[in-house]
Amino acid sequence: MKVIIVGAGLGGLACAIACCREGIDVVVLEKSPEAQEAGAGIQIPPNGGRIMRELGVFSKLLEKGAKVQEVEFRRYDDGHSLRIMPFGDDITHEFGVPWLIIHRADYHQVLLEEAIRLGVKFQWGATVENVLTDGPEVILAGGERVSGDVVIGADGIGSTVRNILLGDTVSLIETGDLAYRAVFKREQLEALNDDKVTELCQRVGVTSWLGPDKHTIFYPVRDGEELNLVLLRPDTFNQASHREKGDIYEMRESYADWDETLRKIISCVPSVDKWKLSNLPELPLWSKGAVALLGDACHPTLPYQAQGAAMAVEDGALIGKLLGLLQARFTKLEKDPSLSTNESTQNNIVSVLELYEHIRKKRTSRSVQGAIMNRKLFHMQDGLLRRIRDFLVRYAGVTRKSDWTWLSSFRQRQTLGHDVLEESTKLFEVWAATHLPVKSG
Ligand SMILES: Cc1cc2nc3c(=O)[nH]c(=O)nc-3n(C[C@H](O)[C@H](O)[C@H](O)COP(=O)(O)OP(=O)(O)OC[C@H]3O[C@@H](n4cnc5c(N)ncnc54)[C@H](O)[C@@H]3O)c2cc1C
Repeated sequence: MKVIIVGAGLGGLACAIACCREGIDVVVLEKSPEAQEAGAGIQIPPNGGRIMRELGVFSKLLEKGAKVQEVEFRRYDDGHSLRIMPFGDDITHEFGVPWLIIHRADYHQVLLEEAIRLGVKFQWGATVENVLTDGPEVILAGGERVSGDVVIGADGIGSTVRNILLGDTVSLIETGDLAYRAVFKREQLEALNDDKVTELCQRVGVTSWLGPDKHTIFYPVRDGEELNLVLLRPDTFNQASHREKGDIYEMRESYADWDETLRKIISCVPSVDKWKLSNLPELPLWSKGAVALLGDACHPTLPYQAQGAAMAVEDGALIGKLLGLLQARFTKLEKDPSLSTNESTQNNIVSVLELYEHIRKKRTSRSVQGAIMNRKLFHMQDGLLRRIRDFLVRYAGVTRKSDWTWLSSFRQRQTLGHDVLEESTKLFEVWAATHLPVKSG
């Protein structure tokens, strides 16, 4: 089997590794002339980490990243601490995998190196302009055609593959929020000579300030040598682009009445990227023929529970697993002439991609809705409801041990604790029982 993956983001690379580990030939087509990821941090929650362990790269990620020891929520105006949630061993104990923080470029590099080691072929500077579901086949800018048995559209939020599968019927939904993202050197903060800032820099933890319409996330990457800051606020984009260079003065102004410690940190940011945050309506389909979508191409999300990339790598790993299981069945049955025809294989690929869509839609949709709910909780206006939230946050946790509200850890267990690959193997067996003939004798 040969799989063509459009896009070498985190989702596309996870899919490439998963397919290659199943003995499938993989070609990745990426429009950028070279490998690149945004200069920012990323959290790898346990469900994403579990996939990385399955793909054999978790220990490398652990070397380059760090285990989150705690997550703290603070008030926006005076920096008063609302709750410090213990993560560290509690998370590993409950979910079997720690919660990591890492530089995106390092995460991307680990996946890329593993894909290359396994024999994935990359074509850089290859922009996919058209996809033919019959075949299937992709057409690159310049006219080159690349064909295979499966095409995976892992081409992110502005997906060309999605536009081709669904036509103009689907357009992005603006969430009304934007993110400023910056990574900067620790020395810049230490030069402030501020005890509170220095203490924050020494933590291997995530600190978040919550305020009306806005919140922020701060954590160290690269052994604390660099610090990652994300500021989330109402949108000021006046054009359709997803990303542009941010204005530092506009950014500082937006947080002028926020906690002094945060303002000092913001004052050190040398330059910043600005990202428009969009969702999609629930898509009528993720796959057509032997072409399917994954990650931000079909379920972009507000980054308010650190799940976008985790869901994309889950998608990718699941596609690899299902196609691998299918290929293994055909290898077993190949001596049977009635099953070895191309048509039989191709029909079953189409059906397995539909199974993938069926397995993933509910989970990813719940994740997108969870982030929308977090936005409401994080961005509350001052008043009675916010005081109730603050009271509940004081008792909330991600694990059973740290959560006295029950609700919070119950919700987290569904997202962080679920083994999607085990589930997919079981569902493949159910599918195979009705779709694949069993050899008699
Ligand atoms: C501020 C912010 C913070 C976030 N924090 C987290 C976090 O902590 N944890 C988490 O799990 N998620 C987080 N996310 C979400 C996460 O970044 C995304 O969900 C994830 O990167 C999506 O990966 P992807 O592979 O689907 O798409 P992308 O990373 O967008 O990759 C798509 C690739 O396809 C290529 N491409 C596009 N069009 C074509 C074409 N026509 N031909 C060829 N190639 C093409 C692009 O160049 C790109 O390389 C955050 C997002 C934001 C905005």
